[in-house]
Amino acid sequence: MESKEFKNKKIMVFGWARSGKAATQRLVELRATVVVVNNSTFNKADEVYQKLVNDGVIFIENDSDNVLDSTFDYVIKNPGIKYETPIIQKAISLDIPILTEVEIALSSFEGKVVAVTGSNGKTTTTSLIRDMLLADNQSVVTAGNIGTPVCEVMTSLKETDILLLELSSFQLMGTPDIQPDIALITNIFSNHLDYHGNRENYVNAKFQITKNQTSNQILVLNAEGKDTAKFESDTHAKVIKFSSGNRENIVRISGDSLIIDNEPLMPLTEIKLVGPHNLQNILAAVTVAKQLQVSNLSIKKVLKEFGGVKHRLEYVGTYNQIKYYNDSKATDIEATQTALESFQQPTIWLAGGLDRGDDLMRLLPDLLHVKLVIAFGETQQKVVELARAASKPVITVTSVKEAVPVANKCAESGDVVLLSPAAASWDQYENFEIRGEEFVKELKQTLGV
Ligand code: ADP
Repeated sequence: MESKEFKNKKIMVFGWARSGKAATQRLVELRATVVVVNNSTFNKADEVYQKLVNDGVIFIENDSDNVLDSTFDYVIKNPGIKYETPIIQKAISLDIPILTEVEIALSSFEGKVVAVTGSNGKTTTTSLIRDMLLADNQSVVTAGNIGTPVCEVMTSLKETDILLLELSSFQLMGTPDIQPDIALITNIFSNHLDYHGNRENYVNAKFQITKNQTSNQILVLNAEGKDTAKFESDTHAKVIKFSSGNRENIVRISGDSLIIDNEPLMPLTEIKLVGPHNLQNILAAVTVAKQLQVSNLSIKKVLKEFGGVKHRLEYVGTYNQIKYYNDSKATDIEATQTALESFQQPTIWLAGGLDRGDDLMRLLPDLLHVKLVIAFGETQQKVVELARAASKPVITVTSVKEAVPVANKCAESGDVVLLSPAAASWDQYENFEIRGEEFVKELKQTLGV
């Protein structure tokens, strides 16, 4: 696959968040002519801004629609910006390709690329693959939706490094030339339909990850996925499927054991991650790791130690025989459902947050093993009503900080204490990370650990 040449091309970067900055810096390194437009003012004291002005980059505030004309070769947009935005519509009418920063980054990289997408489990699976490669002493650099724009890692990246990318459907839509050596689609649910319009568009965006792959490249698919058969027939890549049961799988589960190449690797009880959804993520990650020749020993080591990605059903620790989990990322009902399903032990559940009008009663069947509910935030009253409907005791508090000592006082040996709010954090916190950090900090303070 020929990749794009950006040298001497005239390029508009639309949006000045972290990915826009990284894209602009990389385009300057690739000797493109760059115009950055933004719908608000630029911070002119910013060092990056000043350096780029000296490099000849042109910055235009608040007049973006009039700047774009047919002399531009490409528009680079922040993945979150919708295609309905007037400037993007104008680019479409002028036939100017619209890209994301991932396309710029990949244009100059010849090494091995592993790309992970899917509706859920991307970060967990990507982190597992990264840790398995590192445990195996393989050199890997992780970027993309996981937090670091791909352009940010390009300057220091070596051709011998494996570039491991977590990609959202938004990023994939602007990455027409992507051709990973190994692509993984964890699953496809009906997410982000507000952005994509309908499920078909969403599935097509995900298909982009394999569209350019050839027969010596690999596509790893969830055997139980609704779209798997279609992907399998449409791709040119070699397809490898993962699922728990099938004997043909390289990685599978039999009885209480994780099996690799028909040999038991370890009992499931030794795996630190909890929850059936994480078992799916493990099957996917191990399938990819085996394609990268990671040893069984390294895989086993990681599965024994990996306690989850921060704030995603993250295992905080066991204190006084009580297990603590931080699932602050659970900002919707489905995520909390997954978390509650992950335990059988008596559970003290901390919940509440921004009220988006969701019907919390949907969680009623998941509360069987919950012994106490602690409610806070805007949805507090809804959480209280849910607890009462489930005939569970409920205590109201003002914040996560206040919830922790209450939980500790009520918890007994063998219990789980779970923060899984089923709501976004913005009613009380700047983001879900800060909410989760407050939980962990308060917990450690209360317990004196
Ligand atoms: P993503 O990066 O795709 O958002 P994460 O690994 O960050 O996924 O997990 C976010 C949340 O998605 C988890 O807290 C869990 O509720 C849910 N989740 C994770 N993996 C899966 C899976 N394989 N199937 C269904 N839900 C999952």
